[in-house]
Amino acid sequence: MNAEAGSRPDDSVEELCAELIRFDTTNRGPGDSEGEREAAEYVASILTTAGYSPMVLESAPRRTNVVVRIPGTEPNAEAVLVHAHLDVVPADPSEWSVPPFSGEIRDGYVWGRGATDMKDMCATVLAVLRSWAARGVRPRRDVVVAFVADEEVHGDYGASWLVDQHPELFTGCAIGISESGGHTFDVDGVRLYPVATAERGTIQLRITAHGRAGHGSRPNADNAVVMLVNAVSRIAAHQWPVRLTPTVRAYLERAGAALGIPIDLADVDATIARMGRAGDLAAGTVRNTATPTMLDAGYKVNVIPGVAHAQIDGRALPGSEQEFLDTIDSLLGDGVEREILDYTRAVSAPFDSPWFEAMADALRSEDPDAVVVPYCMGGGTDAKAFARLGIAGYGFSPLRLPTDYPQRGMAHGVDERVPVDGLKFGARVLDRFLLEH
Ligand SMILES: [Zn+2]
Repeated sequence: MNAEAGSRPDDSVEELCAELIRFDTTNRGPGDSEGEREAAEYVASILTTAGYSPMVLESAPRRTNVVVRIPGTEPNAEAVLVHAHLDVVPADPSEWSVPPFSGEIRDGYVWGRGATDMKDMCATVLAVLRSWAARGVRPRRDVVVAFVADEEVHGDYGASWLVDQHPELFTGCAIGISESGGHTFDVDGVRLYPVATAERGTIQLRITAHGRAGHGSRPNADNAVVMLVNAVSRIAAHQWPVRLTPTVRAYLERAGAALGIPIDLADVDATIARMGRAGDLAAGTVRNTATPTMLDAGYKVNVIPGVAHAQIDGRALPGSEQEFLDTIDSLLGDGVEREILDYTRAVSAPFDSPWFEAMADALRSEDPDAVVVPYCMGGGTDAKAFARLGIAGYGFSPLRLPTDYPQRGMAHGVDERVPVDGLKFGARVLDRFLLEH
């Protein structure tokens, strides 16, 4: 490094991203992961070298989190949390054109698993903090940065554990920013930057049919397999009604206005179809969904079993949880009952707020044509865990993506990669948001 290195927020951010990708932090499922400790120690060493005092916290052996608080110049101002997960989903090297943990920098991109989910933001926030130390600047507000384990499963070893065991680390934080928003979403030359201000909740169910056991050669009217399959079929066929939440309504109106597409809220499906690519972003969030994903019944072909099970992956919009359960109950039919395996409420954050405006300002300072709009995520992130502490979550991990950026290169995809220019843009936007607001 030369004497200048680290003095600008975007200095060497691509190197940091590549280094982080080289730690294989694959999270395969409950309790089955690797590499988080090494990645966390690397993060902590960067912070320590810059003069900060990070805390390294393990929820279980090798499930490692790093939290650092940078004191602001106004101790009474509300604090900002930045949280970014260190783990990644698995990658099959045979499908990739580069080894997925090589962190290769080539053709203007950093390649590898986690490049956009979310070692990109781990790198941009690290680069920003490093530059503050080099520049001798401090934010006005306290900034708490959490690098967490285990987002790709349930956060039991990461965000959820930190919230339960160390809530004091997040004292004063009014909002949290993290993945799944603030990226360029180019629609016919209009550069939308959707920022997530809501996430659907998760309601995963196990449904069980109780019938009459017997010999397969003597059919009976209370066959558990038939009852279960009929219930699953009714659930799959159900037409969930449109439920327009404030975030989704604002997305449709504001994106529609920017694109010059007429919006008819009385016919949301037609409106979404007219919006093309921009409509895709809302399509999964205008109604609840219930997707059958697992079936389990029987043990021998000539035996009618007494019970049969299925699992349903349900997602409910903010405020729609009870309606979701009532609807499922009405579809189950006699002899079929349900139990809840996982219930995580939907979350939402205000979008007509100074915080949202500050994110929009920071994006427009680097891309004057940015059209910053709120949107709702179909799935979920660690924001739900931090919401338990009253922290309003925003999907804001700024990144500029080129018009021809391949969608398959995004989160969880093959040949995941992030443009070097886009990372540098993200670091400058994040620097402005954290320092100037
Ligand atoms: Zn992620």
